[in-house]
Amino acid sequence: MREDIVDRVRAAGVVGAGGAGFPAHVKLQFEVQRVLGNGASCEPLLAGDPYLMLNQPGPVLDGLLTVMDCTGSEKGTICLKSKHTDAVAVLKDKVSDNGYAGRINVFELDDFYPAGDEFILVNEVLGKIVPEGGIPLNVMTVVSNVESLLNISRAMADLPVTDRYLTVCGEVNQPLICRVPIGTPANAAIDLAGGPKIPEFGVVMGGPMMGKVLGTGTEPITKTTSGIIVLHPDHNVIRDKSRSLDQMRFIGKSACTQCSRCTDLCPRYLIGHDLKPHRIMRHLAYTPGMTGDILEDALICSECGVCEKFACPMMLSPREINAAVKQKLLREGIKREPRSDTYRVSPFNETRKIPIKRLIERLEVGKYDVHPPFWGEDIQLNQVIIPLQQHLGKPAVPVVRTGDRVKKGDLIGEIPEGALGARIHASIDGTVEAVGENIVVSQ
Ligand code: SF4
Ligand code: SF4
Repeated sequence: MREDIVDRVRAAGVVGAGGAGFPAHVKLQFEVQRVLGNGASCEPLLAGDPYLMLNQPGPVLDGLLTVMDCTGSEKGTICLKSKHTDAVAVLKDKVSDNGYAGRINVFELDDFYPAGDEFILVNEVLGKIVPEGGIPLNVMTVVSNVESLLNISRAMADLPVTDRYLTVCGEVNQPLICRVPIGTPANAAIDLAGGPKIPEFGVVMGGPMMGKVLGTGTEPITKTTSGIIVLHPDHNVIRDKSRSLDQMRFIGKSACTQCSRCTDLCPRYLIGHDLKPHRIMRHLAYTPGMTGDILEDALICSECGVCEKFACPMMLSPREINAAVKQKLLREGIKREPRSDTYRVSPFNETRKIPIKRLIERLEVGKYDVHPPFWGEDIQLNQVIIPLQQHLGKPAVPVVRTGDRVKKGDLIGEIPEGALGARIHASIDGTVEAVGENIVVSQ
């Protein structure tokens, strides 16, 4: 049975929908003790995961059961915040159904950030600590986002990943949750939400904490896009994400007081990892170039943004600096081995969790926290731009050529032989217009 599940999930191109896009079929090949369905939805403003748990609990739980069967896990837990009372009630009722009863339970999380970080979730639910630089498999656990579980359930019916649920909000006329074809340009999703309310704006793809600022707005929605947020160009979320590394370094050198608040509130530090962002800031301020063992600590940073968006009184950007350092080290093939076999959660872990309400205030996004409705109609599109790299690992290899006709669900990108990767499928019917890093399909 395991081979069949792995084959179907691989064939459907399922990847982790809530993070970096780890190919799902790879995780499924391991024996584990517990599977966690991640519905924590901890990024402010994003509402797609609670919507799915409330409205499609059956497919989400079926996906969880499939992962449990495949990995030999006796128990599965669906994790979501207590504040999503409707979804909690629906799921608690549903897990008593035949097939789920006795195998799946519901775990209610407090409303803090970053409850959805896999490492934090594993610690909250199971009391285990994923090692530095590790993954939940290191503690015999698989964590799957709820949209991934939905996609796994669809994969068992041979349906590939062609669409993505996302929240479109901020300075738009009609904030909404929608389901759009992979490859939909971001600005088409903004138009679906009634267009921008302001003439000049910036766009964040993802959440306000971990998302990326877009350049043109034509960037495509991918399998991992959870939100599109339109904000004033001077909004702090846009501004902080737009600084260059040199600017951040210069500002850091003149303004960092070494108060160590970024470290005190760092969620990874609080679960016992040896990550102290204030040390990285100090090193970069006083050491020319980008060298030094201490910089390797950036490799165990989750880029959650707590240090930058919540902790730092000087409005500095340890997270953006860590992200840039990390990219450089990864390009150079530098790895950071765990420096300990045992980890001890800080005695301050509970009291230093970041309440979402306070985070929303700090981010100045309270007026956009509107619980948007689901838009059930199909988006009208002439063209999609489907990246061949939407996942961790190697880009998919195109298996179509310019001029080919494709139907929604057809395979257009294959996993390179022997590599980590994920398949890519056409998300609309049409003609292949271009094949490069992206495959462009026009109707
Ligand atoms: S919180 Fe800000 S000022 Fe304090 S040590 Fe960290 S980066 Fe420096
Ligand atoms: S982004 Fe900052 S707070 Fe988050 S893990 Fe990295 S160093 Fe810690």
